[in-house]
Amino acid sequence: MNLINHWINGRPHEAVPERTGKVFDPATGNQSAEVAFASVADVDLAVGVAADAYPMWRDRSLAGRQRIMFAFRELLERHKDDVARLITAEHGKTLHDARGEVQRGLEVVEFACGLPQLLKGEFSENVSTSVDMYSIRQPLGVVTGITPFNFPAMVPLWMYPMAIAAGNTFVLKPSEKDPSPNMLAAELWERAGLPAGVFNVVHGDKVAVDRLLTHPDIEAVSFVGSTPIARYVQATAIEHRKRVQALAGAKNHMVVLPDADMELAADSAVSAGYGSAGERCMAISVVVSVGDAAEQLIPAIEKRISSLQVGPGMAEGSEIGPLVTAEHRDRVVGYVDLGVEEGATLLSDGRGFSVEGYEEGFFVGPTLFDDVSTSMKIYQHEIFGPVLCHLRADSYEEAIRIINDNAWGNGTAIFTNDGGAARKFQNEILVGMVGINVPIPVPLSFYSFGGWKDSLFGDHDIYGPDSIRFYTQVKTVIARWPDRIHRGVDLGFPQHG
Ligand code: NAD
Repeated sequence: MNLINHWINGRPHEAVPERTGKVFDPATGNQSAEVAFASVADVDLAVGVAADAYPMWRDRSLAGRQRIMFAFRELLERHKDDVARLITAEHGKTLHDARGEVQRGLEVVEFACGLPQLLKGEFSENVSTSVDMYSIRQPLGVVTGITPFNFPAMVPLWMYPMAIAAGNTFVLKPSEKDPSPNMLAAELWERAGLPAGVFNVVHGDKVAVDRLLTHPDIEAVSFVGSTPIARYVQATAIEHRKRVQALAGAKNHMVVLPDADMELAADSAVSAGYGSAGERCMAISVVVSVGDAAEQLIPAIEKRISSLQVGPGMAEGSEIGPLVTAEHRDRVVGYVDLGVEEGATLLSDGRGFSVEGYEEGFFVGPTLFDDVSTSMKIYQHEIFGPVLCHLRADSYEEAIRIINDNAWGNGTAIFTNDGGAARKFQNEILVGMVGINVPIPVPLSFYSFGGWKDSLFGDHDIYGPDSIRFYTQVKTVIARWPDRIHRGVDLGFPQHG
């Protein structure tokens, strides 16, 4: 069985791990590899190597760092398809979708290539007579990224290009469910000329995460994953005096007003609800129809669902791949059972879905519930599968209230042709990323990504300009170069310039 081991100090780690986990091909249900689970000693080794590399990397000229970023960008572009194939092989999503994932990650590298411009400080001449004041942005030291299974390449790419461009060294702990894309990324860094020790990967579970959260040489933690773990990561990292941003789970609502273009709304609900089998933190999982919008919308959604192709991610024509593991499939199917018990109307049932030739794969077909209420668990919990819940609201105000009362606030969308209604939505909704006739409003790399409420714990969004703030600390300097004018001793506060 192929063993996926850590990447420490510019090369694959050779020691035999004490513990390992299983990696599966979700389309066939077969185990495809074993992944090393880091011990405390493994994490300490990786952090130690990163700490040793830090002074050299911090002092590397901006132009020198930038050249390596450009070289990494070129290699990633060239190997886009290889990364995408590794994603599909271990995550299960369609190859088409995996290529999109790599592209979005690549865009963060492109933004990070502008590091000399991004890292500029400020300068004020003559804040007092012959006294200048300036601020500089300095890196933090060794920083870590802990990432989820659902975007095994893109979410790490939200973090490490920005952190490394800013002069930090990095230890990544990717999801143990689909670890391979980051091993290829590590190789590409090495080929791009990144010095050994600047980018390291440790695989594993809670043991590795807990050591990273408490290690005295880790200065900052970027986390993306589920809400309970995000909450724990933030609390633990803060307790150990670390800067932390923890992006978390979601329940994203799409409001459809009666005046909306119903064909566009139905296309969008189906694409955003079932794309990547619903395993996206920005997936639409709740559609809220206002007034009589449902009369046209629901049949239009049902019609589209009936022609969706569920199949292995590698196969041409597949639109929905399998879920990541058998446990996750069983959890999602459990929620469909629960929805039926809770009294929601099951309009499309994805349970027991079997794909010919892939009978052991972790497939769930597209599932649609109507008549869902906010008191049901299928509404309150993040299901993270191809399950769309439909709610009806009597008024637009009620739809806004439903969203604002929800614990999460990652993404949301409104479908309408009324500019005033859209503006009211943008103004009043308590959600971090808003789409107007756009179902998945993911900011491009030159903005930052972040939800509100239980979707993000911390003060910084991820990638884009907020990332520069997160991965650097400001130092402010006041300088006087003594000239011939000496004023003598003065113990008072300065009264004038
Ligand atoms: P997860 O929380 O189970 O795992 C995330 C990371 O935490 C993994 O690296 C995992 O090994 C580690 N981890 C898991 N349990 C842990 C524990 N008890 N202690 C310490 N570390 C632990 O999340 P997941 O299932 O891999 O990913 C799906 C979740 O991520 C969903 O909730 C989704 O909404 C969320 N997500 C959020 C965003 C966002 O930007 N807000 C983006 C992608 C995914």
